Amino acid sequence: MSVLDRPAGPVPPAPAGAPVPFLDLSGVHAGLRPELDAAWARVLADGRFVGGPEVDAFEAAFAAFCGARHCVGVANGTDALELVLTGLGIGPGDEVLVPANTFVASAEAVRAAGARPVFVDVRPDTLLIDPAAAAAAVTHRTAAVLAVHLFGQVVDVGELSAVASRHGLAVVEDAAQAHGGTFDGRRAGSLGHAAAFSFYPGKNLGALGDGGAVVSDDTALVDRVRRLADHGRCGRDRHRHVLAGRNSRLDALQAAVLAVKLPHLDADNARRAAVARRYRETLPGTVHPVAVHPSARSAHHLFVVRVPDRAAATGVLDRSGIGWGVHYPVPCHRQPAFRRWSRGPLPVAEDAAARILSLPLSPTTTSTQIDRVCTALGRASR
Ligand SMILES: *Cc1c(COP(=O)(O)O)cnc(C)c1O
Repeated sequence: MSVLDRPAGPVPPAPAGAPVPFLDLSGVHAGLRPELDAAWARVLADGRFVGGPEVDAFEAAFAAFCGARHCVGVANGTDALELVLTGLGIGPGDEVLVPANTFVASAEAVRAAGARPVFVDVRPDTLLIDPAAAAAAVTHRTAAVLAVHLFGQVVDVGELSAVASRHGLAVVEDAAQAHGGTFDGRRAGSLGHAAAFSFYPGKNLGALGDGGAVVSDDTALVDRVRRLADHGRCGRDRHRHVLAGRNSRLDALQAAVLAVKLPHLDADNARRAAVARRYRETLPGTVHPVAVHPSARSAHHLFVVRVPDRAAATGVLDRSGIGWGVHYPVPCHRQPAFRRWSRGPLPVAEDAAARILSLPLSPTTTSTQIDRVCTALGRASR
């Protein structure tokens, strides 16, 4: 019996023919209900809702999970990226290399820091940043490159770091979709100069609201991020503001929820991997999953395929009650907000955007559900 045929929690399996959700968060949370109830009762009794022991404990646990020295909880993943860039001294006049195939937040954070995003194309196999394209886009203004671990995959940081060290760039990981993913056995969050994580509810490690974290071995950087995120405060004196900072903090309630969910993350990711394996074994030959680098272990945040006719595929999925998504239909350099920083066509990202389709994937997805998705896609390609 495959892990997919064992219930993930106390929720009974859906009846045959029931809709297949794109992401099943209620199923994930149902099994954690007693632990979650205890966590918020503890926070309510403690009375410290911003900062305090719940946040300290989660930060320590998440740094250890990633194999990094430090973690600072912040308000969301976009802030985490911006705070890393600002903390590294990157701002107006600087350029930051951003893969065109990413969630728009990667580019927003660069703008929020005051720097200019320079979009680069992705590799046709993994749809992750192409190190050669990154190298070709470097100018004397380039300060950093964003290693966006998209779909749960992990960027080949060896190649990217070689480009970065040749040109004196910081490698900043956007690990918002890759909690627990690895490259050569090292986890996302420990591969670059610093990493930004999101705990948006739909991510592999999701809060019950917004949340994010900066993870790094660089003590000075982490101290700066912590200050910037807390009104520029320095040390014990609450009324001494050494930096013109801002407010971007992780709530104690979200930290307590995340601390409940973190110990289940590896098992959840293993179930996601089993779902991905069955998709690969069962999908019709016309549907091509995005490749994972052989040295990477994906966190399988999304299961993304290329289909010959996306309108036909989504039509059949809709009629079959099967959820789907597209991540992302318009590459960043083609978005109205970012077009003006575009330096011309990026053919791989543009071609992929027109063909990709994300299939249902949750730790609770069953073999029966996967087989229904594959059968429906087989009908679409006939
Ligand atoms: C979700 C996400 C972000 C932003 O995280 P928020 O917590 O929503 O601000 C950044 N980059 C990528 C790749 C994401 O998927």
